[in-house]
Amino acid sequence: MEQLIDFFQRLFQTNDWPPRWFCGRWTDFHGWLYIVSDLTIWLAYMAIPLILIRFVVLKKGVPLPGVFVLFGAFILLCGATHLLDAMMFWWPAYRFSAFIRFLTGVVSVATVIALIRYFNEAVGLKTSREFDRELVFRQQAMQELARSNQELQQFAYVASHDLQSPLKTIVNYLTLLETKYGNQLDGDAQRLIDTSTAAAGRMRILINDLLDFSRVGSVTEFQPVDMNQLVAEILTEHQDDIETANATVEVGPLPVLTAHRTDLKQVFQNLITNGLKYRRVDVPTKLSIQATDLGDAYQFAVADNGIGIEPQYHERVFQIFQRLHGRNEYPGTGIGLATCKKVIDIYGGQIWLTSIPGAGTTFYLTIPKEIKTVQHYAQTNSLHPVD
Ligand code: ADP
Repeated sequence: MEQLIDFFQRLFQTNDWPPRWFCGRWTDFHGWLYIVSDLTIWLAYMAIPLILIRFVVLKKGVPLPGVFVLFGAFILLCGATHLLDAMMFWWPAYRFSAFIRFLTGVVSVATVIALIRYFNEAVGLKTSREFDRELVFRQQAMQELARSNQELQQFAYVASHDLQSPLKTIVNYLTLLETKYGNQLDGDAQRLIDTSTAAAGRMRILINDLLDFSRVGSVTEFQPVDMNQLVAEILTEHQDDIETANATVEVGPLPVLTAHRTDLKQVFQNLITNGLKYRRVDVPTKLSIQATDLGDAYQFAVADNGIGIEPQYHERVFQIFQRLHGRNEYPGTGIGLATCKKVIDIYGGQIWLTSIPGAGTTFYLTIPKEIKTVQHYAQTNSLHPVD
């Protein structure tokens, strides 16, 4: 203990030893070779941690930064021992030199332990070549996905579009039948015609909804859309339904989104008309459309005080053709919420609902401020090809 205290008290004292030049017999050549070599090693050792620090600062998110720091300290201390060795030719601070060597030893052992500890993790880290390969693979998968999406969309579009023409013929012939022979037909025959006409009408709505569903999300050239204007337009178009429902609609200040206007209109139109449709008859209908800024996305809330949705259906209602009510209770095709989900999924957002059965439902949707669709990613050419 005494020795330890004495050691640190006289850490920089040099009078116990002669300078190294006077220890033994050095020729000038031998001494300067020693000094110059030590100083060269010291300079190189100084440069390495500086390069490492610059690397860690420039390359944000470097894995295992702790190991980098330890390694930098280890190299710096190794350099210091060489500098001291050179200095000792004039300044024989043997205590200080021993102390720096001791520190170097401690840091070296810590570096070795850290390297062994993180070895597996380091082996698991991907090299930039591996990353490039994976990115190319993902890009190919994205392109394939975009292509097959487009094919499906095309199929749904063509199928529903082509169905419109025979349907028009059926409706026309039913109308013709009624106008030409209506007065000759009995009540039963009239009912048959009416039922067929009503079924054809439903089919027309179904085909139109399917067409809308197949079309949404296909346009990726976006423009700024003022959501205040868009919602006002939807409300004006559904003024009759609002009056029938005796509804009051509260619209918060809404943001401007950069997206495809028709997609956004489909989403908000479906949510608003559902709010009016699934109302409670015993209370005046109340709707509210609000938006919150989440930083990198906007969150919208479309709330009603309608019939509500039981918890077990909160996810199912977003599936296509899923309806919770019979056609006679509430008309509909079961495509509206699936269309909303399709748009929001493509836009990289989320849609969900909370509801109290018998009291109302709130649909929440998030839409990123900068929308990146699969098509956008598939079109990216910023990857470097890998051999
Ligand atoms: P549609 O309204 O054509 O039936 P949607 O896909 O829009 O189809 O909705 C699916 C089902 O979710 C509806 O049949 C209805 O049962 C339920 N639903 C949707 N919106 C609401 C709402 N605001 N309140 C209560 N139930 C709703």
